[in-house]
Parts: sequence; structure tokens; C-alpha cells
Amino acid sequence: MSNFPLKNILIAKKSIHSLSFKLIFAIGGLILVGSLSFWYSIIHTSKEEMLNTTASFATTNVNLIQKSTHQYMLANNLEDVQKTLETMVSEDAISNIRVFDCRGKIAFASDREEVGKTLHGKSETCNICHEDTSKAIETLKFSESAISDPKWTVINRDGKRVLRSVVAIYNEKSCYTAACHFHPEEKQKLGILEADYSLANFDHKTQHQNIAIATFGIIFTAVLSVILCIILWNIVISPILTMTEGMEIASKGDLDHKVNINTKDELGMLAKTYNSMTSELKHSREKLENWAKELEKEVAIKTAEIKRGQEQYIHTEKLASLGRMAAGVAHELNSPLTGIVTFAHLLMDRIPEENKMDREDLEVIVEQAERCSKIIKGLLGFSRAMPAEKNVVDVNDMIEHAINMIQNQAKFHNVEFDADLQKDLPDIGGESSQIEQVFLNLFINAADAMNNKGSIHIQTSQIKVDGKPYVEIVVSDTGPGIPEEHLSRLFEPFFTTKPVGKGTGLGLAVSHGIIRKHGGHIIVKSLPGEGACFFVRLPVPNPNEQVNIDSDDQQQES
Ligand code: ADP
Repeated sequence: MSNFPLKNILIAKKSIHSLSFKLIFAIGGLILVGSLSFWYSIIHTSKEEMLNTTASFATTNVNLIQKSTHQYMLANNLEDVQKTLETMVSEDAISNIRVFDCRGKIAFASDREEVGKTLHGKSETCNICHEDTSKAIETLKFSESAISDPKWTVINRDGKRVLRSVVAIYNEKSCYTAACHFHPEEKQKLGILEADYSLANFDHKTQHQNIAIATFGIIFTAVLSVILCIILWNIVISPILTMTEGMEIASKGDLDHKVNINTKDELGMLAKTYNSMTSELKHSREKLENWAKELEKEVAIKTAEIKRGQEQYIHTEKLASLGRMAAGVAHELNSPLTGIVTFAHLLMDRIPEENKMDREDLEVIVEQAERCSKIIKGLLGFSRAMPAEKNVVDVNDMIEHAINMIQNQAKFHNVEFDADLQKDLPDIGGESSQIEQVFLNLFINAADAMNNKGSIHIQTSQIKVDGKPYVEIVVSDTGPGIPEEHLSRLFEPFFTTKPVGKGTGLGLAVSHGIIRKHGGHIIVKSLPGEGACFFVRLPVPNPNEQVNIDSDDQQQES
């Protein structure tokens, strides 16, 4: 836990509505009120006690004065009484002594000048002892025991506080039996002794004591407040500020931030719970983000699939209309061409051997007509106008047959065939001559690309695509490969890079159509300089299903 981090203090200082301010204000106020009450009661009690001690000390002094004057009174030695009183007084103890007779006349006084004066009825001194000042001494209200336990009253005399004691002087046996005296025995009280004890010293001391206690109280309260504040800060406010700071950081998105409160109290538990909560939150957020990413990926894949499907659909539509057109044109041209070739042959038979020029011209006509016928066949193949027979065929046999057919042709003399054919390959359903035509197209294209020199690798295997069994035929060559910009146009009818008169651009389009009609796919992969690789996939029919060659264009393109 951090001790008074500056940042936290600044946050706490921000508002008087903050918890720290309220707590400190409330506890500080309580400490102040409690301390004031405590120190006030201490000062008050000690003042009372000091006053009692002073009063008891003063009583001792008064008793002493009474006893020392008693003998002089019995001996009627009035001057000595007066002198004793004068010598007994001092500024900081008994400051004034007066003895009154029954009529209120001052018989003796520490201040000799007051002797003989009479107090008038409303005098403060009279009020101390008389309930009714007009009835003189008979109405004295102090108790009979006052002589031994005088009552002290604090009064203000000449602007100074004094402790005044007024005690009755009783007519004792020694008084009324004394030779000098004339007081009758029935008379109970002979007069009053009034003594003033100066409180100057007392006030001075209590003032010092008050200042000392107040100073001590203030320092004690301040130190206690500071200590309490520190404890409060460390135990409550600082953790709360740390929690608040952590929550603010988390609310800005940083869920890695951990609240560092390592106490075992409620705040420590709160921090621990909060930390595990942010971890959970982070975990959930990551999960959500991952889901969102996966969803985005899925959407992108599906969008691409839809786009591909659309493109494929447009392509299929294009091919279908081209096919229909090609079929119409091919059909119309086929009969006249057959006629041209037939009649050219008949004409050739009639021309004598020595007429070489005419014969050569006729040979050109036949050759060109046969070329046209070949193109028309291609167009018919592309449009599927040619009839198809449904058979169960062995792909390996077809490949071997196709290789045997062309291997002896001049074009393939320098081409090496490398066939890696998987044994026990399942049969597929289809028309063998059409599928063979596909392989022948691929071999011829490979030989053309390699300039009739190189090797063609053929591999067959059984694979599964989306859980469905297929026979895959891979035809790769060691030619120059296909440039990337040509790849997307490869299966378009009439796309060719071969010189005019050599290529028709129908080979792959026808092959594509044939494979598609068999429910298969044909795809190409190639990197320039690394040869071309064609993948032909034909579905393996379910033994319970009938072999079906789709002649109605219902199969989906891959
Ligand atoms: P054609 O053979 O009449 O040109 P195709 O449809 O059979 O028509 O082929 C189209 C084009 O595809 C070819 O002109 C050629 O550029 C390219 N091609 C086909 N097979 C290969 C291959 N194995 N290597 C390089 N290019 C090829």
C-alpha cells in the first residue's frame, strides 16, 4: 500500500465532498470536541481543588490569628490586639482583617485607619452574614459551627479577587468570667471577624496552569488528529483511492491493470474480488473479440463463396449460351462440309495422276475442310451436342489407353510419360471416350507447352472432398507454366496463346464442360517456370445409385 501518494492526495483534495474530507472532518471535529470537554473538566476540577486547598490554608491562618489575639482580648490588651492584626497581614496571604462589634463598628482592623468606622446596612460584608441587614447580628445566617469551619466566599475587593471569611466571635466562658469584661453571660455573639485572603497568587498560578493545560491539550489534539489521519489514510482512504484509480483505468479499457491492496481486511477482499472480476471481464472480452474475428472471417469466406458462385453462374450462363450458339452453327456447317469433303474426293478420283496442280489444290480444299470439320467437332463437344453413353469406367485404364494412343505420334517422341496410378481405384460413372478426350487435351497442351520435349507426370488417387469420395487425376508437366493473368481465362472458349491455325482455344473449355457434366471439377495450379498442374476430380458413385451423366446442365460448378 502506498503511503500518501501525491497523486492520491491531489485527487482527495479536489473536492470537499470527498470521503477523505468528510472522514477527516468528522473525526477531527469529534477529537476537538472530546478534547475540549476533557480539558475543560480537568481545568475546572483542578481549579476547584486548588481553591479548596487555598481556603483550607486561609482557614488555618484565620484560626491562628484568632488564637493569637484571644489572650490579649481576655487581658483587655486592646493595643496588642490591634498590633497583632497589623503584623499578621501580608499582600499575598491574609490581606485584610477586620473585627466588628455587635453594632457593625470596626473594633480592630489590619488597616488602623478603619478602626472606629461603621459599615452601613447595605455593605457587601453585611450581606454575607445577614439575611436582613436591618436586624443586625441576631439575623446572622451562618451556622453555629462556622467558627471552626468558616465559609469562604470569593468577592471582588478594590478590583482584586479575594477569598473572604466571616466568622462569629462567641461569648465563651473565659470571656464573661474575665475580670475585665462586662459582657453578660446571656449574650451569645460578641462580634464578627472578617478576613480577606488574597487570590492574586492563586489566580496567577491557575492562569499559568490553564495556559500549560491548554497548550498541552492543543498539541495533544493536533498530534492525535495527525496520527488518526495517517491511520485513516493508510487503512481506509488510500485503499479507496487506489480502488477508484483502478476502476477509472479499467473503465478506459485497460483490464490488465490490477488494484494492489494486499491487506486482509474488507478492502483487501474487495480489491481481490475486483481484480478477479476484471480478469473475468478481460477473458470474456477476448472471447467476444475472437468470436467477432471468427465471425468476420466466416462472413468474408461466405462473401467470397457467394461472389465466386455468382461469377461461376455468370460464366456458366455465358458458356451455355455460347454452347447453344456453337451447336447451332456447327450443326448447320457440318452437312455442307461433309458434302465439300465427299465431292472433293470424288473430283480427286476423276483428275488424272499427271494433273498434279489440280490434285494439290484439291488436297488443300480437303485439308482445310477437314480442319473446319475438326473445329466443328470441338464445338459440338463443347456444347455437348454429341451423344453420351453411360458406362462404369476405370480411370487407370482410360489413362493408359490415352497414353498408348498418342505415345507413337511424332509430337510425343521426346515426351516422357510417368504414370503413378493407384491400384484398386474405384470405378467412376461416365462416357469413356469423352473422359479420354479430356486426358488427350491435357497431354497435347502439355506437349505443346514443353515444345514437345519434357516429361508428363500422371498420378491417380482416391480422395474425399466435403466427405464425398472422388477419383483425382493430376496431370503435371515440366513446361514453362501458365502466367497468373491467364489462369482465370484458361477455361473460356476460344482462349488460346497458340499461333493462328494451331490452337482453337476449345480444348480446355470442352474438357471443362465434359468434367462438369460428369459431376466433377477441373482446376489448374501453376507458377511461371515451374510447369502446369491440372487436377481432375470425378465423383465415385454410390453403389446403390445409378450412374448419371448430367445432360441438362444441372450440376453445380466447383
Ligand atoms: P488451345 O490448345 O487450342 O490453345 P486450350 O483450351 O486447350 O486451347 O488451351 C488454352 C490455352 O491454355 C493454351 O493456348 C495455352 O496457352 C494454355 N495451356 C493449356 N495447357 C497448358 C500447359 N500444360 N502449359 C502451359 N499452358 C497451357
